Amino acid sequence: MSAHGSIIDCHVHPTAARGDGPAACAAEMLRYADRMGIEWQGLSLGPVFIQQPTEDEIVADNDFIAEMIELHPDRFFGYANLNPNLLFHSLREIDERIANGPFVGIKLWVALCCNHANVDAICERAAELRAPILQHTFFRAGGNLAGESSPADVAALASRHPEVTFIAAHAGLNWERGIRAVADQPNVCVDTCGFDPEAGFTEMAVQWLGAERVLYGSDAAGRSFASQLAKVHGADISDDDKRLILSGNMRRVLAL
Ligand SMILES: [Zn+2]
Repeated sequence: MSAHGSIIDCHVHPTAARGDGPAACAAEMLRYADRMGIEWQGLSLGPVFIQQPTEDEIVADNDFIAEMIELHPDRFFGYANLNPNLLFHSLREIDERIANGPFVGIKLWVALCCNHANVDAICERAAELRAPILQHTFFRAGGNLAGESSPADVAALASRHPEVTFIAAHAGLNWERGIRAVADQPNVCVDTCGFDPEAGFTEMAVQWLGAERVLYGSDAAGRSFASQLAKVHGADISDDDKRLILSGNMRRVLAL
């Protein structure tokens, strides 16, 4: 247990011990989470990241995570991986994984920029199910990948779906720009992961967005829990704000 209570990590991938199947992966991720006081891990994607996954690859990813949740329903929750280019399949996965459980949210990576009409259809279903959307966002130096979303794309999408909570993952990587890009859109949060543990990120996010819109996420196992936790523990913000970022906000987003 950390000094700020139990922790919810909103952004984790099942990539530890990934060749050995869901049970081994779960055991390895929990071994490190236990050391760091992380009670819950929000899982998405699969053991290998696929930029343009097929229907079968989407199903395999979501099955992998479903098995981890089934083994440890008190430690893992899931965001259904979707490829919005495969819209009918995406809507079917939402029904099978979220409406029927146990997944609670949606993960969108780089298959299609989120400011696209296909994603509007996904958001309409997410609103009905009160499912948050974890959207990868980069402002990449030299320009984004073809299907990659920026925080500005998430802000545009979120303005059309005010009832859905969006998590702009990585705060855009170039976070000074990313935080500004989502600041005026109140249903967009940012998470803390996917870039080096630079000083000043959490303070700027709290100042511009309010602590209620900043979520602790690690991007483990690609990043360590500890290096991303340091952004929160080491920030010059109040203990109350740290508690919100480490777990309170995610409890609200997931209506726990
Ligand atoms: Zn990630």
